[in-house]
Amino acid sequence: MKLLKEVIIERGRIISSDVLKVDSFLNHQIDPELMKEIGKEFSRRFQEAGITKILTIESSGIAPAVMTGLELGVPVVFARKRKSLTLVDNLLTAKVYSFTKKETNEISVSNEHLHQEDVVLIIDDFLANGQAVRGLMDIVKQAHSTMAGVGAVIEKGFQSGGNLLREQGIHVESLAIIESLASNQITFREETE
Ligand code: 5GP
Repeated sequence: MKLLKEVIIERGRIISSDVLKVDSFLNHQIDPELMKEIGKEFSRRFQEAGITKILTIESSGIAPAVMTGLELGVPVVFARKRKSLTLVDNLLTAKVYSFTKKETNEISVSNEHLHQEDVVLIIDDFLANGQAVRGLMDIVKQAHSTMAGVGAVIEKGFQSGGNLLREQGIHVESLAIIESLASNQITFREETE
């Protein structure tokens, strides 16, 4: 997605050879116009998949997921990372090791919002080693819903998550695939032009 790649170049900040900071448009301050275009692009790519629900994880997945839900006309559910007083019964849970925080969180979703008939699209901000997506896939499985695919705003192609999912036959769409952050430079994979 050309616009996204331009924004990443202009406003992304390389923290290290494997971490990109995108706090000015995706992870802290959010650019609504960009999110709207991201929603349209995911919707276009998964138009034929018969999606009935979008599943993401708080907090940075919520903005792109909501805009995609708006375009596809389906609800968006986000997995919580923290315990909630109002979220106690009938929980579907999974353990997720966070790449950026270096800690394991138990994520949870109420089974009231995911059903056997649901066809689920998983959306997240980054796809790195695929831990977050795997946790969400585990929850989809526990709900006996159908997995339609995975949409990542930014995939780091030099980490294994995306390719492992594709090798499993999962439909993965990443709007920008970063091949390298080495030498303080962002290099994109060609086919995401
Ligand atoms: P994974 O679970 O695929 O290893 O990592 C994905 C999760 O870690 C995302 O939900 C995202 O929040 C975070 N993450 C992974 N890599 C980066 C990165 O380079 N920059 C930022 N800002 N977050 C990242």
